[in-house]
Amino acid sequence: MNIILASANRGKIEEFKKLLPNSNVFAYSDILGKFDIDETGTSFKENAIIKASEVNEKLKQIGEKNFIVISDDSGISLPILQNAPGIFSARYAKVGASDKENNTKLISKLDELNLERTPAFYTACIAIIYNNLIYTVHGFMHGMAINKELGTNGFGYDPLFIPDGFDKTLGELDFEIKQEFSHRNRALKLAKKVLEVIL
Ligand code: IMP
Repeated sequence: MNIILASANRGKIEEFKKLLPNSNVFAYSDILGKFDIDETGTSFKENAIIKASEVNEKLKQIGEKNFIVISDDSGISLPILQNAPGIFSARYAKVGASDKENNTKLISKLDELNLERTPAFYTACIAIIYNNLIYTVHGFMHGMAINKELGTNGFGYDPLFIPDGFDKTLGELDFEIKQEFSHRNRALKLAKKVLEVIL
């Protein structure tokens, strides 16, 4: 069974491949070519379902069979900012923003509030579509967002995020450490349980 990821984010695709070492994992763009999917939902769950559904429909159109579509919508939320950037994490600075631009905007928001650090959490919602049925699960990772970038590991907001129980950012910690308790891995563990039941 092939797992098709409804994501174009290289960082996430690499994480999924590492987290699913015994599966054939493909990015949707490897099979369908790259196309834009409008994330018009108002929650991580709605956006995950939108992405997975669109890829599922296109795979059906080209006659592809025997596949599971998995999508992930994720982001970082800061309670002090009314949970922004939240579902807008990838496009916080602007549509198509780089990680650097998004991080710079988040740092400027903390600086405006004179905060060196403030509670933050990552959310990942994974949607699975198999045989046209939709399943969703969530995972979370709590910690602190800080007002400077430290380290170059990971992607996105990782250089600004210190997970609970550590004194280094995910930019400084090894991937193996992040993998143990990341929001995506926690959601994926639940997704694997769903797959065990439905396959
Ligand atoms: P999505 O591709 O629409 O789900 O957007 C996810 C965005 O949230 C990414 O572009 C990152 O900015 C942020 N994000 C999600 N998960 C992580 C993570 O594990 N580390 C760092 N940033 C993340």
